[in-house]
Amino acid sequence: MKINISDINSQSSDFKGQISNEAIGSTGVLAFIEPLKIIAKVERIDEAVIAKTAVSGKYSAVCSRCLESVEQLWENEFLIAVEIDRKTEYIDLGEEIRQEVILNLPTRVLCDKDCKGLCPDCGKNLNNEKCKCSSMS
Ligand SMILES: [Zn+2]
Ligand SMILES: [Zn+2]
Repeated sequence: MKINISDINSQSSDFKGQISNEAIGSTGVLAFIEPLKIIAKVERIDEAVIAKTAVSGKYSAVCSRCLESVEQLWENEFLIAVEIDRKTEYIDLGEEIRQEVILNLPTRVLCDKDCKGLCPDCGKNLNNEKCKCSSMS
């Protein structure tokens, strides 16, 4: 996501881009199933470019409690600052954003915050059915 410095002024302007899901890859917990959309409000302050960046994309993952597959929308915002000098012609926000995304992805995914999980005794998915284990103990 290259931005020419000459396109940036002190008024913030919007730039749109995307990162391919292959560039993020699978984290072992989740993998994006579509390109991540990026909207960056970019402005120049002296010798720096500041980008207020909103990222969104859909990933598929396995619920860490009940092991069902889920697809969820992930959204996050980052503030990225890049130093520039008079010779800088362009900046490439793509790699900066990719690293922020990887650092901020969840390490655990739940299908629902109230997911009841699997019964530790019989292994039934307690979101779908009740088992008799708890009534016997
Ligand atoms: Zn679940
Ligand atoms: Zn059970």
